[in-house]
Amino acid sequence: MIEKNTKGDVWVYAEVQDGTLQDVSLELLGKARKLADKLGVPAGAVLPKGTEISAAADTLIAHGADSVYLVEDTALADYRTEPYAHVLVELIKKYRPQIVLFGATPLGRDLAPRAASATRSGLTADCTDLDIADVTEKSGTVHPNLLLQVRPAFGGNIVATIVNYDQWPQMATVREGVMPLGTPQKSRKGNVIKETVPLTDQALFAVEVIKREVEKRKLNLKGAKVVVAGGAGMGSRDNFELLFDLAGALGGVVGASRAAIDSGFIGHEHQIGQTGTTVRPALYIACGISGAIQHRSGMEDSAKIIAVNTDREAPIFSIAHYGIVGDAKQVVPMLLRAFKERN
Ligand SMILES: Cc1cc2nc3c(=O)[nH]c(=O)nc-3n(C[C@H](O)[C@H](O)[C@H](O)COP(=O)(O)OP(=O)(O)OC[C@H]3O[C@@H](n4cnc5c(N)ncnc54)[C@H](O)[C@@H]3O)c2cc1C
Repeated sequence: MIEKNTKGDVWVYAEVQDGTLQDVSLELLGKARKLADKLGVPAGAVLPKGTEISAAADTLIAHGADSVYLVEDTALADYRTEPYAHVLVELIKKYRPQIVLFGATPLGRDLAPRAASATRSGLTADCTDLDIADVTEKSGTVHPNLLLQVRPAFGGNIVATIVNYDQWPQMATVREGVMPLGTPQKSRKGNVIKETVPLTDQALFAVEVIKREVEKRKLNLKGAKVVVAGGAGMGSRDNFELLFDLAGALGGVVGASRAAIDSGFIGHEHQIGQTGTTVRPALYIACGISGAIQHRSGMEDSAKIIAVNTDREAPIFSIAHYGIVGDAKQVVPMLLRAFKERN
């Protein structure tokens, strides 16, 4: 067990894939910076690496890290659970951070439970928000400055705030895109702390990487400036072609509600919402989507939202900047025509 350390840093595990720092780690650093400021402690990033990653430490500092804990070892060239978890746990034991955050990526979901289990601490998966506050137990005992770990629970029907007051560090994973990516401040200064963690135990390398094959993401929902999304109200797979036409003309991509995916109108990789991708495009056009809370949580921070729905009472209109009451099958071609005429 790691002794509680209220002076400890707020850490982010800096995830690297194919020699590139992942945006989710930089998104988390923006949040870690705010949490650290509330606590009056430094924010840190843990960066184990086995190959050169250009300007990684500078990037982490520019995004809010005060210290980058760098562990360089050729044995870390490929991600493997055991050696990476060992490095992280050794650093946690040495520095006793009070909070450790991970992206809820396949790698983060593999590494975070290992670290939590090895340090006998708690872990909240898939948080949608994080904050710091004093928490009072029913007995009246006050725990100052705990990490509030907010996430949907019970099938998305409630939003739960989870705290961990006794088994530290407090650990959480956060899905990609949930926290906004901040603007890097190139003038920020920070320390790079080089650490050596012996990786001599052969048991750590029971898994041998023979070949790595990474399938490139075909769809970049998160990075798209325009998302044209369809819901159950689109009625069929064929009608979704209208959305592809509009998205193509606007230089955007097609998203969908879970109901549209469950109906077989489009593949699950297009899902937006609580159990899909979180997006913040410049323009989000919601066609035949009611606006259930689980969908809205993945798109409501879009800069401009246009909603097309036959039901003027549909909840999506309460967050839309422009609402069109009408049949999406007619409105979408009209929007496309109007756009083409103007361009
Ligand atoms: C744990 C959990 C996680 C979930 N995660 C997600 C998630 O990540 N993403 C997600 O989207 N959902 C998610 N859901 C499901 C969510 O609760 C809703 O059921 C879903 O978002 C509804 O999709 P929809 O709006 O397309 O369908 P509906 O609710 O059926 O709404 C269809 C809408 O289309 C309108 N309409 C009908 N015909 C037309 C027409 N011709 N033209 C225009 N409008 C028309 C209707 O008025 C209606 O408003 C989750 C649910 C749970 C319990």
